[in-house]
Amino acid sequence: MQTIKAKKAFGQNFLVDTTITTQIIQAMPKDDNLIVEIGPGLGDLTKYLVQQGPVIAFEVDRELCTHLTTAFKQPLSTKQLTLRCGDVLEAWSQEGTQKSLVDAPYNLVANLPYYIATTIILRALSDPQCRSLLVMVQKEVADKFSAQAGDKEFSALAVLTQTVGEAKSVLLVPPSAFNPPPKIDSAVLKITKHSSLEDEAFSHFLRIAFAQPRKTLAKNLSQHYPKESVLSILEALHLSQTVRPHETTTQQFHQLYFQLKGALYGREQQQQRKQPAQT
Ligand code: SAM
Repeated sequence: MQTIKAKKAFGQNFLVDTTITTQIIQAMPKDDNLIVEIGPGLGDLTKYLVQQGPVIAFEVDRELCTHLTTAFKQPLSTKQLTLRCGDVLEAWSQEGTQKSLVDAPYNLVANLPYYIATTIILRALSDPQCRSLLVMVQKEVADKFSAQAGDKEFSALAVLTQTVGEAKSVLLVPPSAFNPPPKIDSAVLKITKHSSLEDEAFSHFLRIAFAQPRKTLAKNLSQHYPKESVLSILEALHLSQTVRPHETTTQQFHQLYFQLKGALYGREQQQQRKQPAQT
């Protein structure tokens, strides 16, 4: 059989250490949800996944799709495996809006292409059919999603994750576990969801709050919201004017967001009363 060369442009680093594959399978949630794999590659993880339950796999590389169609003839014929060839991000979008990746509850288990790993995780956090994620990513990315308030890595990504569930890094993986070995360390990130992200405006608010992570939260928020509203809401929530974004908890971010929204709405109403509609 012709050997398939890893393509850098598709973020291909194939997992060759089977002890890591076994540990990923052991960390999977024990439920009857469908399994979704993004980027089955040569199928080294897929062959274990199909033993756990029905799998839908999304692969962008046509050459790998052809290889998988031959290598997985039997599970494909029994529908234990369904292969969708194409870009998973396109499969998720429909005319610019986001839809569910599949139409049944699923657990995402994958060794993700690192160049779009953050985008994929955020899509999965917003997808109401996605119930959990168990994904291999760059270690820094796993740290950002699983950080706790007070950690220097605590970021908007961690706040969004804690809004819908719980995250932890379950496994550190060295470059030697892959072929070709990547230049960075990897980690397996597990996220268990209880709900899904719905409010795009909250994500926007977090981008403002963390715009300059080492500056104070008050300074970041005051770039977009009236300073007096920011300061009085911080005081009402017993937050110091010098608190930094990474020192603020997810619950406090939600309180700040709702109170700022309320304050802005109140100001708009006042202004409209001052300027009666012209006839
Ligand atoms: N699962 C395999 C393994 O563990 O050895 C391969 C993992 S490799 C890091 C990432 C895989 O994602 C590759 O097979 C690559 O072709 C695929 N991929 C990259 N971009 C993709 C996209 N936009 N949609 C679907 N698959 C993608």
